[in-house]
Order: sequence, then C-alpha cells, then structure tokens
Amino acid sequence: MSVDLNTLKTAGPTITALTRPFWDAAAEGRLKIQHCEDCGKAVFYPRPICPHCWGRRLAWKEASGRGRLKSFSEVHKPGHPGWLPAAPYVVGLVELAEGPTMLSFILPGLRPPRVDDALRLAPTDIGGRVLPAFKPVETGTEEKPE
Ligand SMILES: [Zn+2]
Repeated sequence: MSVDLNTLKTAGPTITALTRPFWDAAAEGRLKIQHCEDCGKAVFYPRPICPHCWGRRLAWKEASGRGRLKSFSEVHKPGHPGWLPAAPYVVGLVELAEGPTMLSFILPGLRPPRVDDALRLAPTDIGGRVLPAFKPVETGTEEKPE
C-alpha cells in the first residue's frame, strides 16, 4: 500500500445524534467510546442502551488507544470502488483495552500482521476525513503501561 489514503474517494460515515460524539472526537484524532454509568462497562459501537445491563446512562469517555488484533483480513477486492487504489490493505477486529471490539483500518507494520499483535490508535487521514485507524506496536518500541 503506497497510495495517499487521503486521496481515496470513499463514502463517509452517516452521522447521527447518537454517533456524533464518536465522529467529533475522531475528527480531532481522538477515540471516544461510551461507558455505562450503571455497570461500569465500556460499550462500542454507540448505542442508546447498555448491552450488558440495559442501563440508559451511557457517558462518552476518551479511550486509551491501546488494543489487540483479534482477527484481520487482507482486502484485495474492496466492497467499494473508492478503496481500490489502496488494495491490498488490512482491516482488523481490534479488541480495545477497555473491552469492546471495533472494526478498523490497520496500517502496515514492519512485518505482516498476526493475531494478538499489540496495536495503538493511529488517527489517519482517509478520504478527506480523520479516521481512528490502528498501527502495530513494533517490537523494541513497546510503550510502557501508563
Ligand atoms: Zn451497563
């Protein structure tokens, strides 16, 4: 993948009142996810009701940006033609340190991705907007826990 991702002609997100805090944070290069004020668990994707306890008191909080690659796929034939110039590229299921899993674009590392790779949030300009992509934490550059 050597294309400038920001030149891709990709479809943008459908932003609703429910998802706006996520997209506003993403535009600033940050990752915010919901946390349930009743059971304390983190929630992703954005929802009006906690999937763990059905509580309705969900608050937006900044995520650590740390995660683990749970699974991934190398995409050779994108579902939307706007992504073709970037193919092949990797999308992965990222298990966030807070618990929830999110689907995300995985930036290339020094070697091909492997399940269980440590990942770090890497806000990336893609198709004219900043998206919360992830990149591998390379061996030897592991960050110490905060
Ligand atoms: Zn809850």
